[in-house]
Amino acid sequence: MKKEQYLGVNVSVMTYSEILDDLRMRIKDGKQSTVIAVNPEKVITANQNPLVKELINDSTYQIPDGIGMILASKIKGGDLSERVTGIDMMEQLLRFAAEEDLGVFFYGAKEEIVSEAKTKIEDRFPSLNVAGYENGYVKDNEALVKKINDSGAQLLFVALGSPKQELWIKEHMSSLNVKVFQGVGGSFDVFSG
Ligand code: UDP
Repeated sequence: MKKEQYLGVNVSVMTYSEILDDLRMRIKDGKQSTVIAVNPEKVITANQNPLVKELINDSTYQIPDGIGMILASKIKGGDLSERVTGIDMMEQLLRFAAEEDLGVFFYGAKEEIVSEAKTKIEDRFPSLNVAGYENGYVKDNEALVKKINDSGAQLLFVALGSPKQELWIKEHMSSLNVKVFQGVGGSFDVFSG
């Protein structure tokens, strides 16, 4: 997978469809994958915080979220040509899950936000299997991991803000049967609106 580096932070040089094709194969091979959105602000944070840098660089796909990344690539003669935003990636993954008949789970945000986001997403993707959801203020991670595994979800969207959501994913992914993880920040707030 082709990557470019910005202050030591990896960014994938891939379009939405290339990511989905790659994911399809990784799921078939039983591999887990993580998607993280990278913008100039996160690159600066990562440059100052080795843990954040590691969280980003250990992800499977670091998507260039924001025109700043495309401009930075142009300046250094790189190959990033189009933005791949976190929210658009989530929409592509929802469509993908509906087509491939894979269950999805939403974890994060306030109860009324995540439940409304779920309803709006179900209206938009009628064939999507929403296996479950949980608000982002629960304390019992063990019960949450069980709830997600019992739901049979293969894709998990985590909206706890960054880098909290990425830390949560890193800490719990080995206990989860989920194949695709995306940290989505404020995206449930956007879907619910
Ligand atoms: N959030 C949460 N639990 C927490 C902290 C935050 O569920 O412990 C949710 C918050 O309600 C919001 C979402 O995380 O819906 C994204 O927060 P923010 O906009 O700060 O994230 P960013 O997009 O800036 O990373």
